[in-house]
Amino acid sequence: MSASLRQVVIIGSGPAGHTAALYSARANLNPLVIEGHEPGGQLTTTTDVENFPGFENGILGPELIDRMKKQALRFEAQYLNTKVNEVDFSARPFKIICENGDIFLAQTVIISTGATAKYLGLPNEISLIGKGVSACATCDAFFYKNRIVHVVGGGDTAMEEASFLSKFASHVYIIHRRDTLRASKAMQKRIFENPKIQMLWNSEVTEILSNLQGVYAIKVRDVKKNEVIERKTDGLFMGIGHTPNTTFLKKQITCDQLGFIKTVNDVETNIPGVFACGDVQDSYYRQAISAAGSGCMAAIRAERFLSHQ
Ligand code: NDP
Repeated sequence: MSASLRQVVIIGSGPAGHTAALYSARANLNPLVIEGHEPGGQLTTTTDVENFPGFENGILGPELIDRMKKQALRFEAQYLNTKVNEVDFSARPFKIICENGDIFLAQTVIISTGATAKYLGLPNEISLIGKGVSACATCDAFFYKNRIVHVVGGGDTAMEEASFLSKFASHVYIIHRRDTLRASKAMQKRIFENPKIQMLWNSEVTEILSNLQGVYAIKVRDVKKNEVIERKTDGLFMGIGHTPNTTFLKKQITCDQLGFIKTVNDVETNIPGVFACGDVQDSYYRQAISAAGSGCMAAIRAERFLSHQ
């Protein structure tokens, strides 16, 4: 089967991918975006987005993604609703093999496959995202003014979530399954000194209780005493880490120990002509706006790479 040759193939369709598509389409590079199994990524499971500039009254996550896609389509970016199964970056043009059988050759590739927040695996937690369950305090803390929230996890993410939430919530409880934290000592100090934050050690969430308004309580088990108690809460924040979506790369790109793609000059991977943007290479900011910004950078770098060839 002959494979079609593209100048730019973008893998992934969150804010980073759509922005890379917009910029490379406007640079006349006819980009192809391979959307993946969950087109739009994490924004599609978010309700109100109040921190994306330009929307003074906020915008729903799915609508924001839809608008980004429409903007890129206006400049004739092409979208394909399938997933990449495999890539071959051993020589240029690079080879991209899709789940639907399509094969593409690409002069440059932009990887924007994002990261997936880890959840506990409780039966109703995914359906309660946006109704009391969240994995992003920066996005949602504002909705918990003077309310009670619980954060799960013992690493830096959980500590940052708790610290940020404490600026809004009346009480923040961190539920950690052990009696020592994984977070850095500096972060631990900040948490222990914060009068609004309290630790619930050796504890795990076993159930999330909700009504029509959303989450109102959780059941928490003390793993040492094996006792379960119900705790009132308005929100439950997951701070148990993120999984970057990089398995399809099969180790052809250098990643850090957690699997996030390593980049230099903001968006360059270890393979010339392959760029990465958004949460797949950013375990720190993880915001729609920073992802979009790095999508712009990746497209500009790809365009300059092609023009230097
Ligand atoms: P980590 O893997 O460091 O921590 C995850 C935490 O979640 C651990 O405490 C772990 O418990 C707990 N956990 C994992 N799965 C479950 C589960 N199923 N149920 C209950 N608890 C669970 O991930 P982070 O996202 O916190 O950090 C990732 C990396 O990013 C780290 O290197 C961190 O330093 C860095 N980072 C740095 C920041 C900064 O510098 N400001 C901010 C955020 C992250 P246990 O400890 O028992 O394994």
